[in-house]
Amino acid sequence: MYKNFCSLNYNVRSSQASIEYLIYHYTACDFATSLKILCNDKAEYPVSAHYLIDENGDIYQLVDEDKRAWHAGKSSWEGREDINSWSIGIELVNPGHGPHYRPFPKVQMEALAHLSLQIIDRYKIKPWNVLGHADIAPTRKIDPGELFNWNWLALQGIGIMPSLGIVSASNDSLEMIQELLKQYGYGIDSPDGNDSHIQAVVRAFQMHFTPSHITKQPNVETCQALLSLLEKKNKKG
Ligand SMILES: [Zn+2]
Repeated sequence: MYKNFCSLNYNVRSSQASIEYLIYHYTACDFATSLKILCNDKAEYPVSAHYLIDENGDIYQLVDEDKRAWHAGKSSWEGREDINSWSIGIELVNPGHGPHYRPFPKVQMEALAHLSLQIIDRYKIKPWNVLGHADIAPTRKIDPGELFNWNWLALQGIGIMPSLGIVSASNDSLEMIQELLKQYGYGIDSPDGNDSHIQAVVRAFQMHFTPSHITKQPNVETCQALLSLLEKKNKKG
């Protein structure tokens, strides 16, 4: 099941860092192109990931887990910025947002679950630290997007999803939502304090946790989801 293709696009992890996050991506192109890009060390901006999973469920290891693969780019979670040093990155073949964006096939998701459970166990990654690229780079990235089935993964014991309608949210003001998003881990400090930044963060949150309601505008459901997630995180953390 595992096929090795060595990518040279890696370096050493920061000595300060330990592996705490698992980050999911889509490649936005077909398998052959994905492999080429993730292994091209002559590119102007070389990129890579530890693993690439094809739509047929085949898993390719490209970079050793102890090395720092280049998948996150400029990103932030819990105030940390060098997410590449702190994470394992998995790329999933999918055409990405556009006319051909489609659900990730069951066999691909099963392969992802199988691989993820091993990684989570190996590094004791917390459920709330299993994230999408959009979560850690909301103004630049929207992968893996709303067709990625986080709910199904949570049923396999991977990641965490909110229980909606249980926690009542009386206040869904922007200030409150911003504070809750920050508490959960999102980087919400906009350099110029503009609305598009917070909207991007809200969209990332909604794509992950309330995928049937992606409005970019905070609402009661966003607030309920955040409160539920924070409650679960605080209980287990
Ligand atoms: Zn990505």
